[in-house]
Amino acid sequence: MLVNKTIFHRLAGVGLFVTACALGPLGTSPVARAQDIQQEKVVIAHRGASGYLPEHTLAAKALAYGMRADYIEQDVVLSKDGVPVILHDIHLDTTTDVAARFPDRKREDGRYYAIDFTLAEIKSLNVTERFKTDSGKQVYENRFPMDFGMFKVPTLEEEIKMVRGLNHSTGRDVGIYTEIKDPAFHREEGVDISAAVIAVLEKWGYNNPDSNSFVQCFDWAETKRIRNELNYQGKLVQLLGENRWGPPEGTDYDYLKSEDGITEMARVVDGIGPWLPQVITGLSENGSAVVTPTLIAAQRAQLLVHPYTLRADQLPKWAGDMDIALKAIFDDAGIDGIFTDFPDQAVQYLARNPDA
Ligand code: CA
Repeated sequence: MLVNKTIFHRLAGVGLFVTACALGPLGTSPVARAQDIQQEKVVIAHRGASGYLPEHTLAAKALAYGMRADYIEQDVVLSKDGVPVILHDIHLDTTTDVAARFPDRKREDGRYYAIDFTLAEIKSLNVTERFKTDSGKQVYENRFPMDFGMFKVPTLEEEIKMVRGLNHSTGRDVGIYTEIKDPAFHREEGVDISAAVIAVLEKWGYNNPDSNSFVQCFDWAETKRIRNELNYQGKLVQLLGENRWGPPEGTDYDYLKSEDGITEMARVVDGIGPWLPQVITGLSENGSAVVTPTLIAAQRAQLLVHPYTLRADQLPKWAGDMDIALKAIFDDAGIDGIFTDFPDQAVQYLARNPDA
């Protein structure tokens, strides 16, 4: 597509989209499609600037904003009173002091579930750096010290207000990138998380193909339901895992990674969120990225490709440093965006390499 890349790059950080209105005939579908979208390479702050501050705290999100990420990610689960809150897990015990505060509220499996706690109870918890429940040790030892527990769990709406408020005060347009977590678990608990999340997005103007936002989900049956039954109009991304991780019922990642799976997904979603090894397997002898058939098929189907997760303190085996990884991702593989815990490093790489 003939687009002036220089102009786009001057607007780096804006998360600019140009719709097909300006570039060609509109399709018949009311829904956003990757073919209708031209965008600069984007940096998605994975759980915020989570390499520096505890994941999914408003502090980590504000830092990511200040680091000029294009999108800020929210993982969403529901509280007992049905409020969408920002947590990576359906459990509270890996990032909060719930076990000390509410010792008698664990289930038989020993876990503390967000769905068993009201918003007021969740708000009373202190959020820390992620830790292992068995040893109590933090997962990434050189990150923010976990004994500094001064943070709170935000609601989806609070986080949207913060991003929108910063967009107002800075004049920038940073997007949101919302993941609906474990819809099958929520359904077993008698609640419809997708409907609850979309209601909040709708309220804030994000249920719209032109809004600066994405919705993502690992559950392929649910992704189709979000599009077809809940009539979600915004940009949608199917996340890809591995079957050996225990996929949601109705989701076969081996199929989705295949040519047929890619073709089917392209009829429903705007992009895919693969695990990084599903798109780049290593470097060739001349140091350039070795890409997978899944990536080639997705690019041929004009799907956006936003892999997860690039971490400076847990690099892929083939990458000696962040710049090697970012060159492989952006320059060699032509990937559209990256989820990273270190958004500053990816933003700086793209600023130094405007033709990436
Ligand atoms: Ca996520």
